[in-house]
Amino acid sequence: MKKFLFSFLFLTTGIVLAQHGLENDINAIEAKLIEWRRDFHQHPELSNREFKTAEKIAAHLRSLGMEVQTNIAKTGVVGILRGDQPGKVVALRADIDALPVTERTDVPFKSTVRTTFNGVETGVMHACGHDTHTAILMGVAEIFSKHKDKIKGTIKFIFQPAEEGAPKGEEGGAELMVKEGVLKNPEVDVIFGLHISAGFDVGTISYKAGGIMAASQSFEIKVKGKQSHGSRPWTSIDPIVASAKIIDGLQTIISRESELTNEGAVITVGKITSGVRSNIIPEEATMIGTIRTLDYDMQAFINKRMKEMVPTIAKAYRAEATIEIEKGYPITYNDPQLTAQMLPSLQKAAGSENVKEIKAITGAEDFSFFQKEVPGLYFFLGGKTIGQEPTSHHTPDFYIDESGMKLGVKAFIQLTLDYLNN
Ligand SMILES: [Zn+2]
Ligand SMILES: [Zn+2]
Repeated sequence: MKKFLFSFLFLTTGIVLAQHGLENDINAIEAKLIEWRRDFHQHPELSNREFKTAEKIAAHLRSLGMEVQTNIAKTGVVGILRGDQPGKVVALRADIDALPVTERTDVPFKSTVRTTFNGVETGVMHACGHDTHTAILMGVAEIFSKHKDKIKGTIKFIFQPAEEGAPKGEEGGAELMVKEGVLKNPEVDVIFGLHISAGFDVGTISYKAGGIMAASQSFEIKVKGKQSHGSRPWTSIDPIVASAKIIDGLQTIISRESELTNEGAVITVGKITSGVRSNIIPEEATMIGTIRTLDYDMQAFINKRMKEMVPTIAKAYRAEATIEIEKGYPITYNDPQLTAQMLPSLQKAAGSENVKEIKAITGAEDFSFFQKEVPGLYFFLGGKTIGQEPTSHHTPDFYIDESGMKLGVKAFIQLTLDYLNN
């Protein structure tokens, strides 16, 4: 009996998409993916201002007969698709916002949208590829809505605004979606997300178990000294010299105190402001910077040591200093057990030879807020034409090869079916 059960399970697990009859659907939807993507690309909208984008997504989901929620975390859209049989709940996420970047490519669907951002007149561009993410998830929704008989459970399609960060003074993005209960009703068991990459070849998937993208925290240090004439430093307490010692000290938290064979970590002071002219020793100095970590224990340690070190070093130079560290973005952390469980699905979608394990990236991603609540898997989808030079995300020349999108649809479908049906 046991043996029978085992072989039965073996036969029903790990079904490839051809056997589901979905391979044809995926091939057939490519033209639509490109059409949707070009439309979004030509009409990009900034974080928390994705009004038209959200309307188009909601209209599409409604046309599929899906239960649709709008205005989640301001402009977010959620579609709920219940399979014919009850089961677990998978969430699939796409971010939908664009960036204040002026496009310089010569694609026919180039964006000419302009706006004012932070008081600066600028172009608007899908310079991170979120237009492809939106199109991919719309495609997955369309295919699954025609195959409810194959779904044992529920799929939540999460179209998330403001991944790049809400405008100053506003809430937004994944954090706000979680706060508004996007992972509840029905309760999500697991979440999958992807990012197209202008650096990885079309046809590939790149992943890493554990921390794949860093936690990002900004910090501010204020150093207070005593002002004096620049020619008479002995009558001053120089906050600039104290700041230099603090910067030096902070770097030793990484180089001398952090176990870098465990995971990498970064402290960067990105701005230092003090003084007005050459012959005045100023009273104060301010520094701001960023901390990147890939492990929560290391993050706690680095935060603790920074808080100890900053006032202590200042004191050694007779100054006073305070440090504030913001909570920031969490680690984009791929649950190791889930990653191991789902790796065969990625391999089935892309072919084993095209699935690569990568090193961590010290950039941050707000998908991490979902992964703090439920186990999640986040991976990179190749978007660079093979043989071409990569372009950089967030730049005017950013370019994505659209033929990479189809694999995104395939991967999401394979992950979802394997997770729900096994
Ligand atoms: Zn980005
Ligand atoms: Zn992005």
